[in-house]
Order: sequence, then C-alpha cells, then structure tokens
Amino acid sequence: MERFSRERKIYFFEEFILTDHHFPYLEFHSFAGTAVKAVRPRIPDRWSEAQRQAGLVGLVDELLELLGPKPPILWFYTPMMFPLARHVDAAAVVYDCMDELANFRFASPMLADLERELLHRADVVFTGGHSLYEAKRLLHDNIYPFPSSVDVCHFQSARKLCVTPPEQAQIPRPILGFCGVIDERLDLELTAALARQRPEWSIVFIGPEAKIRTEDLPRAPNIHYLGQKDYLSLPAYFSGWDVALMPFARNDATRFISPTKTPEYLAAGLPVVSTPITDVVRQYGDMRGVYFASDAPSLVCACEEALQLEPKRGEWLNAVDERLATLSWDDTHRRMSRLVEDVVEPAVRVPLPPVARKTPRSSWRRRRFDYVIVGAGFAGAVLAERLANESGQRVLVCDRRPHIGGNAYDFYNESGILVHKYGPHIFHTNSEAIFDYLSRFTAWRPYEAANNAELKKAAEEHLSETKDQIKKLEQVFKSIGKTASGEKCDAIEGLIKEADGVMKEAEGTALDAGLLAACQAVEHYEIVRYGALREWAKDLGHDEAHKLLSEILDQEKATNNKLTNLAVTSINKTSTRSRAA
Ligand SMILES: Cc1cc2nc3c(=O)[nH]c(=O)nc-3n(C[C@H](O)[C@H](O)[C@H](O)COP(=O)(O)OP(=O)(O)OC[C@H]3O[C@@H](n4cnc5c(N)ncnc54)[C@H](O)[C@@H]3O)c2cc1C
Repeated sequence: MERFSRERKIYFFEEFILTDHHFPYLEFHSFAGTAVKAVRPRIPDRWSEAQRQAGLVGLVDELLELLGPKPPILWFYTPMMFPLARHVDAAAVVYDCMDELANFRFASPMLADLERELLHRADVVFTGGHSLYEAKRLLHDNIYPFPSSVDVCHFQSARKLCVTPPEQAQIPRPILGFCGVIDERLDLELTAALARQRPEWSIVFIGPEAKIRTEDLPRAPNIHYLGQKDYLSLPAYFSGWDVALMPFARNDATRFISPTKTPEYLAAGLPVVSTPITDVVRQYGDMRGVYFASDAPSLVCACEEALQLEPKRGEWLNAVDERLATLSWDDTHRRMSRLVEDVVEPAVRVPLPPVARKTPRSSWRRRRFDYVIVGAGFAGAVLAERLANESGQRVLVCDRRPHIGGNAYDFYNESGILVHKYGPHIFHTNSEAIFDYLSRFTAWRPYEAANNAELKKAAEEHLSETKDQIKKLEQVFKSIGKTASGEKCDAIEGLIKEADGVMKEAEGTALDAGLLAACQAVEHYEIVRYGALREWAKDLGHDEAHKLLSEILDQEKATNNKLTNLAVTSINKTSTRSRAA
C-alpha cells in the first residue's frame, strides 16, 4: 500500500474501537514514513449492534465526502467490511483475499455469505497464495494468485547486524525463533515438545497473542515470549537467531496459508524449519536451508540439521538470494496495479446516487483480449507468456483442467510428496536457451538414476538364485518322470531377461522406486505360478516335486520381502529428501 500511495491517496478503514463519547467519530493516524493513513472509527460503547452498523456506514460516507467526488477504489481485505461500503459507487472493487478467514477460530457465521456477495461484486480478486487461489479460482473470472513478496533489503540487514536487542542478548544461544501472531494456527504442543527435548536450545516468540489465553501458552525455562515488535526492529531480533521456526498446526485455519515470514526469514539469512504447509512445501520445498517436520522427533532432527548450516552467510544462501530476487514487492505492486487499472472505470466527477448500480458490473465487458489460447500445457503456456511479455498482447488462456502445465503438471501432496498427476516426467534438453528460459519459472530437481546399491545386490543375488531354481525345476520334472519342455524353461529365462532388461534400462533413467516396482512385479508373477505348481504337486501326490517347489517358493517369498523392505526404505528416503531438499 505504501507503493500504491505514490499514485493515490490510501486510507485503511480499520476495525472500530469503542468510546465513551456520545457520538461516533473518525480518528486519523499516519503510518510513519508513508502517505498511507489509518482511519479508526470510534463507536459509542452503549450503542446496539444495529446502531453500530448504521454508525459505521455513516462514518464511511463521511470519509468519502472528505475525499471528494471522484469514486474511490474499494479494496477489501475481509468480507466483514463489505456491508459498510456495499452502497458506495466505486470506480472498482478489489478483494484481496489473504486467508480462508471462515476457517479461523471465532469466525463470524456471516463471513461465508458476505464473501460470496463480495466475490460477486468484485472486479478483480487477488489471493495471498496458490492454495487459496486454487480454492477460489472457480468463484471469479478475474482472479490472480500473489504469494508473499519480501522487502529483501530490510530483512537482509539482519545478516550484517551484530548487536541484538538487550532483552534478547540475555538469552543463551542457539536461539530458534518464531515471529508472527500467536494463535490457533500454531502447534504449541509441538513447540513445547521441542523445548522439552532440547532444553539447551532457546525458543523465542515475537508477536502478539490472539484468540488464545496467556495461561494456555507453553511455559519452560527455555521458552521466551518477547511480545509484539515494530516491523523496523525485526531484523535486529532475527540477527540474534540461529534458526527460524514455523511450527504451524495443520488444521482448517492453516490449510491455505502462505506465510510471508518464509521469505523474510530467508532474507535474514536464517535456515527455516516448518511443518509441511502446502504453499511452503510447494514454493520452497526444493530449497537448501528449508526443512520440514511434522512431529516432535522429526522437528528435533530438522532443527539439528538446520543448526549445521551457518546462518547469515554460507554458500547455501546463494540459491536463496536468487529465489528472493524474484519476489520483490515492486514487481507485485506493478502487476497488481496493472490489473486494477484494467478494471477501474474512467473517472466520474459527479458521484451517482447511492445504490445506482443495481447489478454487478461485468468485468468481461470491459476487458478485451488479443489472443485466446486453449490449452495451458507447455505449448499453450509458453506461447501465452511470450505473447504477453514479449509483445505486450492481452492473452486469455483456457484449460479444462484446474491448473497449468498440461500433462507435465506436478504438485506436492499434503504429506509433502511430489506427485506427477499424469505420469512421471523428466525434462531433457541440450539447449541452454530453453533451459535458461524455463529456469525463470521453475526450480530444478536433478533426476536421480537408479543407484541403490542394496537393490542392485538383491536383484543380482536373486538372478543367480533363479538360475538354481531352473535346475530344481528340471529335478521336478525328473521326479514326476517327465522331461522338462524347452518352452517352460524359456519362460523362466524370459523372466530373468525381463528383470535383467529392466536393470539395464533403469541405469541412468528410472528412480529406485520404479526399479523396485518392476522387480516386485516379476516376483509376484513367479510366486503366483510357483504357488499353483506346488499345490498341483501336492494334490497329485508328487512329494519330491512338492518339496522342491516349496524351496523355490520360500526363496521367492524371501526375495519379495527383501524387495518390499528396500522399497519402503528407499521410498521413505526419497520422500524425506524431497521434503528436506
Ligand atoms: C505419461 C507421460 C509421460 C511423459 N513423460 C515425458 C517426459 O519424461 N519428458 C518429456 O519431455 N515429455 C514427456 N511426456 C510428453 C509431454 O507430456 C508432452 O510432450 C507435453 O506435455 C506436451 O505439451 P502440450 O502443451 O503440447 O500438451 P499437454 O501437456 O497435453 O497440454 C494440453 C492442455 O490442453 C488442455 N486441453 C485439451 N483440449 C482442451 C479443450 N478442448 N478445452 C480446454 N483445454 C483443453 C488439456 O487439459 C491440457 O492441459 C510424457 C507424456 C505422458 C502422457
């Protein structure tokens, strides 16, 4: 808003405050160093709910009268304010949805209805992150995700500061800190467990308490609550921390959050340990210096790993800084400003009478597109980006799927595991230009070849066991008094070849998990067939054949168990890596 205030007058109409005065009135407060003003409505404390609402509507009108006849842009951060201004003839209505407020503790039961009404009236909608965008995208035709930006210079100053505020200077290092509102979104029990398990670490909380009783906060000699601090002083506090924490609970209130503090902590040069919040995993899951943990033991491990990284300096920060360079508030302001300008009606000097606009305007009517692209896969998305950014064209991209990326789309699921929804994709190119272009939009995860030594050993051992099994099968036929047919032995050889082929193909391309799945498929195939053979031998009274086939079957089952265990550990390792990377 400070950036917007360079182009327009900005007034924040805040929550009302009760007063013992007989009449309602407005208070104006300046935000230091900016032209932005906070307007605080004061409402008589003896007024009923109905009087209060009417009084607030009157105060909004009073403010608008002071501002002059030009219709204002109404910018809502909460639908709860919509009733105060729904009668205003606005140049544009913006809904900047930062959270799924209806999921918050003590949320008003009216919130959902008011949000529906606001969405209907809004000309443009912004969401504070991708999860929130996905939850709302079908509710509006002009909606855009804006994950948190960061004031990099402000927070980077923490890397150079050596003097920590006196109240924090007393606290023994290492310090693991959290900064933000302390409310139901935090998993306080998890933080308490961390404090119990590592009494030699200090845990510092900075921020106000909300909707939570002070006596419900975890207490321990190594937990310190320093209260709310001024934005300007945050780098000084961060400069004395070793690790930054985001111990968010995983509940309805946190399902859609996209915490601003992630890039702020990183800008301050701090490794971050978070619970696996979808938007954090999605945006930072591939980044060295960001760790995820969902329970106390893994939180301790993740903090231990994070403490190994040198805060404020170290090579790990190079990649962090590259990423942060793409998250500037200037860029967000530029993009938002353009979208708002697109929906603002030409200035109307004489205000229309209240409620002149009976039906919500259609933002489609005023927006024109130079191109419509159907399909947001690689082809459509790249074409759209080039047309928009290179040639300044207005492009509408449609897709029947609720995401871009086409078949190559992937996403992090709730457990922080990267899922390729339409089949696994690996990207190959020899072209630097293509690689550089795509690097503007994605981080890379170098693919891992099938290199699990234990798996290779298990598979090789089993290949030699299988050769013995062929000899046993020949004995089976002998014991029955028949000669083995070449065809049957060929089938077994075929299986060996198949496994061998999978191994060779796997070198260099497939993940361990893929190879394990192939091996297990062969094993299951064999177990089913040997099982049937053994039962036939039993039914027909061929004891020797039954014994030999049981031996083969036992070997197969043991191998299958070995492969299953390897699969579990290998996949777990892969998923830990993907969360921790
Ligand atoms: C299982 C699998 C594995 C693959 N592995 C690899 C790999 O490892 N490496 C690699 O480089 N390539 C791989 N590919 C190929 C790769 O997915 C494609 O080359 C690439 O996705 C093509 O991009 P595209 O934009 O042309 O089409 P798509 O990705 O298919 O995108 C087309 C989009 O158009 C949308 N669409 C279609 N019709 C309509 C309509 N009527 N209205 C609205 N929207 C519509 C679809 O929903 C889709 O989102 C793989 C493909 C598959 C299926």
